[in-house]
Order: sequence, then C-alpha cells, then structure tokens
Amino acid sequence: MGLIVQKYGGSSVADVEKIRTVARRVIDTKAAGNDIVAIVSAMGKTTDNLIALAKQVVDNPPDREMDMLLATGEQQSIALLAMAIQSMGHGAVSFTGPQVGILTDGSFSRSRIKAVKEDRIRAELDKGNAVIVAGFQGASIDGQITTLGRGGSDTTAVAVAAALGAEMCDIFTDVDGVYTADPRVVPDARRLKAIAYEEMVELASLGAKVLHSRAVVLAWKYQTPLRVRSTFKQDEGTLVVNDTQALDMERFVVSGVAVDKNQAKISLIGVPDKPGVAATIFGILGKAGIVIDMIIQNVSRDGRSDISFTVPRTDLHKTMAASAEICQETGTEEALSDENIAKVSIVGIGMQSHSGVASQMFEALANQNINIQMISTTEIKVSCVIELDRADDAARALHHQYGLSGNS
Ligand code: ADP
Ligand code: ASP
Ligand code: MG
Repeated sequence: MGLIVQKYGGSSVADVEKIRTVARRVIDTKAAGNDIVAIVSAMGKTTDNLIALAKQVVDNPPDREMDMLLATGEQQSIALLAMAIQSMGHGAVSFTGPQVGILTDGSFSRSRIKAVKEDRIRAELDKGNAVIVAGFQGASIDGQITTLGRGGSDTTAVAVAAALGAEMCDIFTDVDGVYTADPRVVPDARRLKAIAYEEMVELASLGAKVLHSRAVVLAWKYQTPLRVRSTFKQDEGTLVVNDTQALDMERFVVSGVAVDKNQAKISLIGVPDKPGVAATIFGILGKAGIVIDMIIQNVSRDGRSDISFTVPRTDLHKTMAASAEICQETGTEEALSDENIAKVSIVGIGMQSHSGVASQMFEALANQNINIQMISTTEIKVSCVIELDRADDAARALHHQYGLSGNS
C-alpha cells in the first residue's frame, strides 16, 4: 500500500459539483489501496476576489493582514472537500497549514517552507482517514500565518510529498499535462509525456503557470515523483523526470515556449558612467526587497549611459519609489517605466549542444515584425522582452519555428 499526495487547483474545486468530483477521485485512490493526502487550493477565483476586496478597503494592504485574509480561501475548500468525502460514507479530516505543522520562514506573501511535521498526518492516515490539507499557507515559529506566493499550493503538495516520502505527487488541474506552450495561447501545442525537472523549473519560472517553480525545485531536490494530470479525465498526464530520461523520450532541441505577461521594465536614463554606480543602484533595489530579472546597460556616451531592467509588475510602485532615491544618490537624470511589455522564452536542455538556436528565435520574431527590447540567455533558455500586445503572436511564431506542433 502506497502513499499518494494529490493536489487540486482552484479550477478543480470551483463549485460544489467539482468538489464532489474531486471527492470521488480521492475515494477511488483510497479504494485502490493507497493512503491519501489531498492538498487543495481556494475555490475558483477566490484568491483574486479576496485581493480585490482588500484593495477596496485600502490601496496598499499590509502584508500580515493580507496573508490572514488570503489563508481563508483555502480553509473553505478543505472543509467542503472533507464534508463531501464524509457524505459519501468515507473518513476524511481537514487541516489548515498551521494545524498540520507546515512551518514557514515567516515572511508574509512569499514565505518559504522550512519543515513539514509528519505526526498529525500519519496519525490520521493510520485511522484510515483521507487527510485534506490547505495549500499555500503555513505558520512561522512564532505562530504568524503566512502564505507562499501565488500558485503556492503546488509547493505545499511537493513539500508534504517529500516529507512523507510519498510514492507520487499528482498535481491535478484543468489541463491534462504540461504542453509545449500554454494550450490556451498556442492551439496546436503538444502534450509532453515527460519533461526534465531542469526544463520544468525554467518553464515555470518563465511564466508557464501550470506548476509553481518552487514546487519543481523541491521535487528535483528530493527526487519526488511529480506528475501533472487533469482532474476531469482519466489520463497519465506528464511526468517530471531527470534529464537523461526526458532526453530519451523527447528529442527536441527546444522543449517549450513560455510567456510572462506580469513584468514591467524600468529605464534609468543618463546614469553617470563610473565605478560603483551599478552597485549603488542595485543595492538600493535589493534593500527595498525588489527582485530584478533582466538587466541591460547601453554603451556610454559623454560619460553617461542608460540602464534598463525588469521587475514583477506587482513591484512597480515600490521600484519607482526606489528609483527616485537612485536618481538622487547617483545623479541619474530620470527613471522611466513601461508596463506594456512581456517576456517570451524558449527552453530546452537539447539547446546546450546546438548552435544557432537563439538566431532562429530572433529571425522568427523579426518575421512577425516584433521588436526585441532586451535579451537574456543561459545554457538552456533564451528570453526576449517584447511589446505586451504581441506576446501571443510571438509564442505562436516561436512554437512553429522550432517544430513543436503536433500530437503526442
Ligand atoms: P490550478 O488552478 O490548477 O493551479 P493554474 O491556472 O495555476 O491551475 O495552471 C493551469 C494553467 O496553466 C492551464 O490552464 C494553462 O492555461 C496554463 N499553462 C501555461 N503554460 C502551460 C503549459 N506549458 N502546459 C500546460 N498548461 C500551461
Ligand atoms: N489560492 C492561491 C492562488 O490563487 C494558491 C494556489 O492556488 O496555488 O494563488
Ligand atoms: Mg496553479
């Protein structure tokens, strides 16, 4: 008898009928002879609605109270799912993250999980209950309720699976696996049978929200078997595996295309070109807790240059406030912001051993008359910042360029 961790996303528990469908799946898994822990997200758009509600009260809600509010979303769905399972004649018990001992580092809105206690979950499993745990939340050592960041229920699921040594961590969602691109944007995207942890980490952190990137990092580290499947279909889904296995199964140079529409670009104009200025600029941004993504610096003219960088769009206000300080401290002429951007990326471990992969990307974008504003590369990815309105066109063009279309 194995232990299975299943995670059901917001769209999988969006209404009562769907909660009943999930309850049946949990029961079936148990009936097949497994112990089961189900991690659940908030129903449908609950988290978005709670954020909007807070913003009606105050423009910039304080982080602690925001986490207190958002944690209630998941608490609704665990209780409802446990009731549904019980009403079908089976044992189930629901727990919040803090109740079950999900210990976080205490930072609000973007907490990391430090440890997961096993005893309470194991005790309930031993009694024959399905254990239903709220995703996305935990508590710090001093009892503060904290959340893990948007999409964080996936990370709860993998952390619980790793702590319990689960046989499998199944992420159930509204698509039937990981595709070569977001199937809502690229209609002929192909479902992958397997993808390497390394590629999946990149795709997830570059905008493919089907998995939370930190969940993939954890699964990779603890070698937790991880699978993405549809809640509403009986299907194998996509298995996340180690590199060599994925390469044997999928021989494409590029495995996938990702789009991130939640970025903003800041340009610092007329930055004095002398040693120490970049350190001052990024020191101020770092102290403000802003995570920088891409950076480019132009060649200098008359002792001044321009520096552009990207940040998550939700941090734009904070960044512009920090930029005012930067201008003052360094004598930079002005700071401009642009929210009208997106980042498109190609990812593939196969690209390490191929040349000309990046130039094909630039050519595909040029053929669509899409201007590239910034470029960044690593061994297994190439990303370009482009105009927001052209992001979906870019994804389709790149998907076609690398021959990713078709059916698996
Ligand atoms: P959940 O609520 O179950 O956590 P999410 O909305 O977070 O679900 O993630 C699932 C969505 O991710 C899909 O509906 C799909 O539109 C999107 N997505 C983006 N990129 C990909 C991809 N490469 N493969 C599959 N789905 C993707
Ligand atoms: N409910 C949270 C969110 O919407 C966490 C999750 O769904 O994974 O971001
Ligand atoms: Mg999600």
